[in-house]
Amino acid sequence: MSSDFLLIDGAAGEGGGQILRSALSLSMLSGRAFRIERIRAGRERPGLLRQHLTAVQAAADLCAAEVEGAQAGSQTLAFRPGPIRAGDWHWSIGTAGSCTLVLQTVLPALWHAPAPSRVRIEGGTHNPAAPPADFLQRAWLPLLAGIGLHADLRLLRHGFYPAGGGAIEVTVTPAATLTPLRLEQRGTLRSTGAEALFAALPAGIAERELAEVARRLGWPAESLKLRGLPAERGPGNALLLTLEHEALTEVFTAYGERGVSAETVARRVSNTAARYLASRAAVGPYLADQLLLPLALAGGHFTTVEPSAHTRSNLDVIRQFLPDLRIGFDEIGPDLWRIHAAPPA
Ligand code: ATP
Repeated sequence: MSSDFLLIDGAAGEGGGQILRSALSLSMLSGRAFRIERIRAGRERPGLLRQHLTAVQAAADLCAAEVEGAQAGSQTLAFRPGPIRAGDWHWSIGTAGSCTLVLQTVLPALWHAPAPSRVRIEGGTHNPAAPPADFLQRAWLPLLAGIGLHADLRLLRHGFYPAGGGAIEVTVTPAATLTPLRLEQRGTLRSTGAEALFAALPAGIAERELAEVARRLGWPAESLKLRGLPAERGPGNALLLTLEHEALTEVFTAYGERGVSAETVARRVSNTAARYLASRAAVGPYLADQLLLPLALAGGHFTTVEPSAHTRSNLDVIRQFLPDLRIGFDEIGPDLWRIHAAPPA
């Protein structure tokens, strides 16, 4: 393919799947073709897995892109986008690969489509190392709605790793005017809640997780919720902590694993929530990297903890596609950072 392709190094920074997904989103938005090499070189099984291939396929469908290299295991991909199209889209990952990561790849384009769209994605909805559907519903999408990016997500069926079989459905409204994101402080704590989901596993596991959260964080019994799901959705177990502050809601999640006690699962996620509560940051580390692209579109700023390798890699991809955007971060206090973006003057 010709030389107007932006060359992206998939091994840069933390060398994960986000580099590819952000490149796909930004290519559709900017109309800029790209070629990515060494895809996911930093991972144990490098190259395109089903989740990444579905993200490529979905992006290609949306803008009738010309694509080379979209095969399982491929470490190189060339992508030339056409104009973004609205529609009624359906993508199935075919494994427990994350539906939410595929959704996040296509949403920025759908917000810039000429008409509303409906999207249905099948695969995993509650995967380690990806945002669970509840995180998008409670934390990510409400913040985006506040800046003018609207999507309504329904979780149709839970899908856990490794069985998958989950489904989400999303309606997306094209964006009109965007308001800059301004998130300096999270404000007062309004409510806390812990939910233990379990499917095809003994309820006792979920009960022990909730008891441990209550013990560690001092949360009252009425904030603990046991949620048994139909056995055919399992086996699966997720423990979600939801913290609602005046300015935003954060969700922290841990997953049950074979050989890891219920108490350990609860301790891990309780520690994450406690660290967040002890910090002055508005936004936790996962939400921070997922807010970068919307921030690049709308401008503004938010405070967070020290930017992760993931956030830094994502920033680099944004800078390559949008060289005139002023985006970056500053350390403004002990374990307190501000990430900011301003469109070109
Ligand atoms: P790989 O790097 O193996 O390709 P991947 O494609 O699944 O993996 P990553 O590049 O690791 O993806 O990106 C994972 C995304 O999931 C990041 O945006 C991160 O913020 C988000 N994420 C991971 N764990 C959580 C969690 N517990 N809650 C919310 N978001 C999460």
